[in-house]
Amino acid sequence: MNFDTRLMPYDRESVSEAAELLKRGELVAVPTETVYGLAANALNENAVKKIFLAKGRPQDNPLIVHIASMKMLPPLVREIPDTAKALAERFWGGPLTMIFPKSDKIPSVTSGGLDTVAVRMPSNEAAREIIKKCGFPLAAPSANLSGKPSPTTARHVFDDMNGRIPLIIDGGECAVGVESTVVCFKGGKIHILRPGGITAEMLSEFGGVEVDKAVTAQPEKGERVLSPGMKYKHYSPKADVYVVNAHGRAFEEYCVKRSRYESKLIALGAGIAERGVFLDYGKTPEIQAQRLFALLRRADELGAKTVLVEMPEQNGMGLAVYNRLLRAAGFKVIELE
Ligand code: AMP
Ligand code: MG
Repeated sequence: MNFDTRLMPYDRESVSEAAELLKRGELVAVPTETVYGLAANALNENAVKKIFLAKGRPQDNPLIVHIASMKMLPPLVREIPDTAKALAERFWGGPLTMIFPKSDKIPSVTSGGLDTVAVRMPSNEAAREIIKKCGFPLAAPSANLSGKPSPTTARHVFDDMNGRIPLIIDGGECAVGVESTVVCFKGGKIHILRPGGITAEMLSEFGGVEVDKAVTAQPEKGERVLSPGMKYKHYSPKADVYVVNAHGRAFEEYCVKRSRYESKLIALGAGIAERGVFLDYGKTPEIQAQRLFALLRRADELGAKTVLVEMPEQNGMGLAVYNRLLRAAGFKVIELE
């Protein structure tokens, strides 16, 4: 891990370069519509091991396998439920990941030792072109150091991965800004393990939907969770993050009061006028999702010790924002109302 990390804009030349490296078992950071991914050949055990090393990711946290066409799916899985077929038809390419029983083609490092595999087809053109050029699926977790906020620009990736990987493809800012929705099929229901751009409301057209309790609650110590990623502290800047359960004026007044005796404080308000300690993280959940990780990184750059965030909505895309915030905050919620 001692690379002269190159940044290349997405074009034909960089796609070829990325595919060459990936074929040789190296890592490349690629843009997707959710966040930037740190990609390796999902079927090459040694290549996938490099992902865990470069990120400092716990070995039992499985990776999502990215495909570029429906015909890439059957060899990776033992079974495709009818609901999954219908969801793929409606939401692929897009920010939806589905869990399937894995075939022997998927090495155990990729699935974190589980006998299931998470698969997604991105909509982002750069990601799809790179997968197509490779001809094999790509395992690609978020391209940040483990524990840090996910990268939504190539610059964020460079800040975390400089020297650790040979190439970053710059495809601009990510459109969604938070990771994909992850679902499994349990008890005849669509079971949401991680909320994202495809919301519970959107999925409910295709059957009963339930949200895993780990989405909004902290797992007990030693508790077995369905999605291993839920165990870990995540998305965290250096600053201490708190979700403040208050809105509008009440939130502003609380932050102003605290800022009188805390100098290194930043407050993220929903659709707030930017002034003093206040930064706007967006009025709608969709904008909040796009901005959240970049603002958490910015808080670090500004030397913040404390970040107070106005409670987001908890339905639609808001559930994804709330889920990421709770983890960034280590579940610290300040109740005012
Ligand atoms: P990331 O790659 O950082 O976006 O994280 C991938 C997420 O998908 C983590 O929360 C994993 O726990 C989850 N995941 C991946 N594969 C599986 C699987 N086979 N079963 C359950 N959850 C999975
Ligand atoms: Mg991640």
